Amino acid sequence: MNIHEYQAKQVLKEFGVPVPKGGVAYSVDEAAKVAEDLGGPVWVVKAQIHAGGRGKGGGVTVVKSIDEVRTQSERILGMTLVTPQTGPEGKHVGRIYVEEGSDIARELYLSALVDRATSRISFIASTEGGMDIEEVAEKTPEKILTVSVDPASGVSAHHGRQIAFALGLEGEQVKQMTKLIGNLYQAVIEKDMSLLEINPLVVTGAGDIICLDAKVDFDSNALYRHPDIMELRDFDEEDPAEIEASKYDLSYIKLDGKIGCMVNGAGLAMATMDIIKLYGSEPANFLDVGGGATKEKVTEAFKIILSDDNVEGILVNIFGGIMRCDIIAEGVVAAAKELSLDVPLVVRLEGTNVDLGKEIMANSGLPIIPADNLNDAAEKIVAAVKEAA
Ligand code: GDP
Ligand code: MN
Repeated sequence: MNIHEYQAKQVLKEFGVPVPKGGVAYSVDEAAKVAEDLGGPVWVVKAQIHAGGRGKGGGVTVVKSIDEVRTQSERILGMTLVTPQTGPEGKHVGRIYVEEGSDIARELYLSALVDRATSRISFIASTEGGMDIEEVAEKTPEKILTVSVDPASGVSAHHGRQIAFALGLEGEQVKQMTKLIGNLYQAVIEKDMSLLEINPLVVTGAGDIICLDAKVDFDSNALYRHPDIMELRDFDEEDPAEIEASKYDLSYIKLDGKIGCMVNGAGLAMATMDIIKLYGSEPANFLDVGGGATKEKVTEAFKIILSDDNVEGILVNIFGGIMRCDIIAEGVVAAAKELSLDVPLVVRLEGTNVDLGKEIMANSGLPIIPADNLNDAAEKIVAAVKEAA
């Protein structure tokens, strides 16, 4: 789960991490009030959306008067902000963050993430702050330092020093960095973050180190033990179909293609998407109905797939292990009837009671196209969609 920058900074502040003072605002008047309380003389008005690159898209501005705070808030609030990370459709800005301005001497990059290669929390640091780190990694990989922390011994001063020296920090700044790394590590562990990115981490004109931006991603599987974090969820930032799916325990992610997929098991879902691509089309979604796919779940899954206007055909690929194929077939038939399905539907069933399942579909009177295996299924749905177009 993602949260906004201002929320991330609030969480980090609880761990003693230095962040600029600021306040969130939902209206121009609120923004002006926050700015007055901060006092100035320089403020930054920042769009709050769950995507980076806001600076490039015109969502971050440095201003020097309350009047400017007002004009910039007026401009940014309600705008559709397009950044390299939002896609061309952009994101609606519903809230802004007004911060005290910082005097920036250097912009650095620092992040911490769950590193699957080492099974540890790794810190990634670079002197190339404010830039896209993927680009830095590709063009100048020597400018990136990775330091992983052994969970048994935890974080200690040498991690901080190693990072500080790589970033060219000296004296008092090394101490600040060591403390910062310790606090960030604690925040990552205690709050079950999967990613924490500070870009830029800045050295101010006075020589202090502060976090100017903060992006945090939490491990959704651990959210049950963080009710305070769950409250920070902003439903406006999420796809309505994905929210609907989560109510039924369906893992759904919308994609850009035209073939809707309904699959049980994440691995099988990935394989199904791959094979659709192999046959020259694109999946419209990732959808894992899970092991216990009931008739109700199958119906909801169909509804969600069909709510996507791009869907021109559906491929159901279910392996009936715990779930019997006849139950799935009944669910598919009932859902197809209830929703008066008007796009081609290919169903591949395998596993327990598969013959009975196929019989139920064949006798349903519906134009369901049966498939014998994954290859066959992908080939058939791609062909059926082409034909229908
Ligand atoms: P992002 O573009 O979404 O990553 O948003 P950031 O919070 O990283 O802001 C983008 C850029 O705006 C930063 O890299 C800074 O160069 C600039 N910026 C942000 N806050 C301040 C500030 O307080 N003072 C100055 N001078 N520049 C700032
Ligand atoms: Mn940034």
